Amino acid sequence: MLDDALALWFPGPGSVTGEDVAELHLHGSRAVLAAVMAALKGQGLRLAEPGEFTRRAFLNGKLDLVQAEAVADIAAAETEAQRRQALRQLDGHLGELYRGWADRLLRLLAHLEAAIDFPDEDLPPEIEADIAAGTAALAGEIARHLADGHRGERLRDGIAVAIVGPPNAGKSSLLNQLARREAAITSPIAGTTRDVIEVAIDLAGYPVILADTAGLRDSADAVEQEGLRRALARAEAAEMRLFVFNAERPRDAEGAAAWPGPDTLIVANKVDLIASRDRLPDRVHAVSALTGEGVPELIATLAARVAATYDIAAPLLTRARHREALEGAEAALRRSLAADLPELRAEDLRLAWRNLGHITGRVDVEDLLDVIFADFCLGK
Ligand code: GDP
Repeated sequence: MLDDALALWFPGPGSVTGEDVAELHLHGSRAVLAAVMAALKGQGLRLAEPGEFTRRAFLNGKLDLVQAEAVADIAAAETEAQRRQALRQLDGHLGELYRGWADRLLRLLAHLEAAIDFPDEDLPPEIEADIAAGTAALAGEIARHLADGHRGERLRDGIAVAIVGPPNAGKSSLLNQLARREAAITSPIAGTTRDVIEVAIDLAGYPVILADTAGLRDSADAVEQEGLRRALARAEAAEMRLFVFNAERPRDAEGAAAWPGPDTLIVANKVDLIASRDRLPDRVHAVSALTGEGVPELIATLAARVAATYDIAAPLLTRARHREALEGAEAALRRSLAADLPELRAEDLRLAWRNLGHITGRVDVEDLLDVIFADFCLGK
């Protein structure tokens, strides 16, 4: 007798990995675990490697690679939006999109191969034009999917919000306010430089990486100039910006003109120090990082902006690995359209198909043979 516990038996192939699986639900004390592990070891069993269950599920055809990656994302999700995105990926929509493209491509390729291999057959004359049109349509769809502003990847890795503005405007104080208000610093990120401090927060369910940058001012000091250069680069690369200025110096708001557009919120800080707000420019968010006044409203506006951009039902590209393969596929499709020999066109279609197959983990020549022989029944 080792413990009073529950044992569950999941016979394959209905189990999560497709194999026979037994689960032991134990009282998780060290002594119980040690005793049970010792007994299991005596039966020739060992601990699973990291990811081994998901790997077996993939190898047994229970998941595609995109779904396997989603399992890792669900396990790592820190915010609501990340959890939702990972679940959407796990439910197979993203993989279906990529497989759908791969299947269409395979069909185009099979038709082209048939035209090449069996020139004497009575294949419809418009077949070459159909293949070109299909190739162009596919390239267009992939290009549109790629031109998503990296939203899926941002949602997975964190949406960058840079806090910029003149020195002493209260940027660090505001960062502290935002981070404390949200009370959910998910992980402190070591600044890439001493001048840029980053904090990961959960902003209304969205993963946001707040970056406090060096103050924007002209300086002859070389170190300060470098800090400024990095601050500007960071502000430029960020998805959104909070331009913070001292409400006592309303003309400083003009500095925000460097980043026109809705992705930059203009924040007048230290409103506790001014008697009247009449001199503040229109459409600024008046806050005090000292008293906290206006901070909840600023958070709400920021969250609404983020939600407007990132709350999308369509499956989004989530990983650089997928992006690379899709870019390769699109480039190959475009090359295929430009090539004049059918053999060269076919080779590029094959490359494009291979690229798509790499995303979901399905690259199999048998697939091509199946389509060729099923579609044409050439009987040769
Ligand atoms: P940064 O250089 O832009 O990061 O500015 P800091 O956050 O370091 O703030 C500069 C100074 O302004 C500090 O002494 C803060 O305590 C002060 N400060 C920041 N925010 C406010 C505010 O809302 N009201 C007042 N009265 N002082 C503030």
